[in-house]
Amino acid sequence: MYSDYHLHTSFSGDSVTDPRLQIEKAISLGMEEICITDHQDFDFPIGDSCFVFDTDRYFKVLRELREEYSGRIKLHIGVEAGLQPHLAEVLDWYVRMYPFDYVIGSSHLSRGIDPYDEHFWEGIDEDEAIERFFIDERDSLLAASCYDTAGHIDFVLRTCSAPGEKKAWPKYSDLIDEMLRHIIEHGKGIECNTAGFRSGLGFPNPHPDIIRRYRELGGEIITIGSDAHVPGHIGYNFELIKDLLESYGFRYYTVFSGRKPEFKRL
Ligand SMILES: [Zn+2]
Ligand SMILES: [Zn+2]
Repeated sequence: MYSDYHLHTSFSGDSVTDPRLQIEKAISLGMEEICITDHQDFDFPIGDSCFVFDTDRYFKVLRELREEYSGRIKLHIGVEAGLQPHLAEVLDWYVRMYPFDYVIGSSHLSRGIDPYDEHFWEGIDEDEAIERFFIDERDSLLAASCYDTAGHIDFVLRTCSAPGEKKAWPKYSDLIDEMLRHIIEHGKGIECNTAGFRSGLGFPNPHPDIIRRYRELGGEIITIGSDAHVPGHIGYNFELIKDLLESYGFRYYTVFSGRKPEFKRL
């Protein structure tokens, strides 16, 4: 099975899963390598879960597990860095301080509010709320250089009123194009995040229209991740990804080691 490059464990504020269980499950699915990418969301709103972890301890625990499981699976140490426009410099500094294999840059907030919080959608037209999210995400992606791939670009759709509808493309194609062009020009990539299937979207994040557009613009780097917070979600719907990516002209998907991309046949 494809290497899962978006996995959470109990180092994330929204998971209680022992990293060992994620590793064991990945081995049972026949994955040759995985990357654990726990949430590091600085300046997340007070009152929500804490999405900041102790990075020294993270590396200590995961390095021990990498050693223990070597020969059975290659364990990579990554992070899902929560982007906000004002955090660009802090995050660039943070990822230089630690030898991460892979960094996902994900927007989980717009104007400091999580779309999973009902206040995000209150007192504003839904289209405006979505547009505002994309504007902030665009600003974050253009300002930061800390990331290797942009995580779940249309994350905001997971909690809108009709998640299965085509709400991002082509309506916000200007903003999305701006993000994709920047990503490609700077040698970065996107991810195909299969949690979209579980979130009522019926498609991965981002929507296949955005993946197709990324390829049209010349994008080649694409990782595959389940965003699993529990072992049962590892590799979720990965069997649907091959046809989807191949239909847009991808022949390879990407894994990272030491922040360097490597291409694997789909
Ligand atoms: Zn995320
Ligand atoms: Zn995630």
